[in-house]
Amino acid sequence: MSERRERSWGVCYSAPWVLPVSAPPIREGAVVVEGGAIAWVGARAALPDELRVRHERLERIALTPGLVNAHAHLDLTILRGVLDGLPFFDWIRAVVAARDEVGDSDWRASATAGAVEAVRAGITTVGDTAPTLASLDALVACGLRGIAYLETFGPHPDMAAGALEELAQRVAAARGRETPLVRVGVSPHAPYSTSEALYRGVSEYAARENLRLATHVAESADETAFVTRGEGPFGAMFARRSLPLPAPALSPVAFLERTGTLALRPLLIHAVRCDAADTAAIASAQATIATCPHSNAWFGHGRAPVGAYEAAGIAVGVGSDSLASNDAMDMRRESSAAGGTPEQVLARATLGGARALQLDAAIGTLEPGKRADLAGFGLSDAAAAAGAPPWHELLGAPPRWTVVDGNVLMRGGALAGVAAALAPQAEAAAAAANRRLREWRARVTPA
Ligand SMILES: [Zn+2]
Repeated sequence: MSERRERSWGVCYSAPWVLPVSAPPIREGAVVVEGGAIAWVGARAALPDELRVRHERLERIALTPGLVNAHAHLDLTILRGVLDGLPFFDWIRAVVAARDEVGDSDWRASATAGAVEAVRAGITTVGDTAPTLASLDALVACGLRGIAYLETFGPHPDMAAGALEELAQRVAAARGRETPLVRVGVSPHAPYSTSEALYRGVSEYAARENLRLATHVAESADETAFVTRGEGPFGAMFARRSLPLPAPALSPVAFLERTGTLALRPLLIHAVRCDAADTAAIASAQATIATCPHSNAWFGHGRAPVGAYEAAGIAVGVGSDSLASNDAMDMRRESSAAGGTPEQVLARATLGGARALQLDAAIGTLEPGKRADLAGFGLSDAAAAAGAPPWHELLGAPPRWTVVDGNVLMRGGALAGVAAALAPQAEAAAAAANRRLREWRARVTPA
């Protein structure tokens, strides 16, 4: 006890409702944060006297673990509303073409604006996938937690060695910018854009360098047609460009097994089209999944069998994907679309995402010893005062508080700290770039 007295003062956040996810909801609960970690969770009336704390009352707030966006492309935030209505294949080509339409500083502002948007949404951790270091830098600058997976592409096997070398250079640069909150990973993009040789090379490299790996897989019927038979629009593109087709695989997940990728416990992004054999392979490899229901619906790709994955013991988190194929970073909405009770929806958007990113030892629940990543959502007077947990309001309640590693980034609905300092310039630059991209789209696709 005396040891505790000598520590610096912590902060006791008390709220009408605290929802730890790892334990039942607490009426008039409190979370004590000390040195960036959670020191104590419980009913406020039971707060031990010896805890020396400064009190912060969160009126009409439900306090939860910070939301986890398990799959985003923060740097593509300025493409919001630009590529609406394009079929998947044309959309991918348009994303690539858009890269040259605005400058490097615009994509960096885009990533920062995306990170600020995450803060506003109660998101504390992001699993981001990007070809540049823009998202990594934005996560670090905004004080968010995350994994920045650096993307690599290359459909021709002859490109694999060069692509791998170039990836290693980017990783080396990125590792110099890692922080205790933000780690670097790698991401071979998808089976239709990345050769088997490059998947193999990146997988061996990631294992050697102890890097987390994420990949888009089993997203569309077009991808399955390509991987299993070399057909569909991707097969036609390979034929047009005289690219050698990969040997057929039974499924996109079977393709990842063959390249040695699945054995690395990768984060599988989308996984919409997996059969029972794929699900069993994912479960036995202890790979994890980021499901992106609104992005999948945007393209008409269908619905991932999330219930089957969870029943098989697979860790599933939710992702917004980029705002080029979604209109919001709303983790509770994404999780609701994947099904389940409100309790399950909240758990998937917090602990599920933490498990999918293999960060659940540090975050995902409100428990002593975990890092202090918190989100607070505004409740009506009635829900705040009610004797029953506010499940009926929680999934639509506006984000009001975002705390990462004990640092307050949003306080009562207003940005705070580093997020507040960065937002005005980044959001203005991102809005201007978005206008230019909308004009470009209008030029290249006459109405
Ligand atoms: Zn994606």
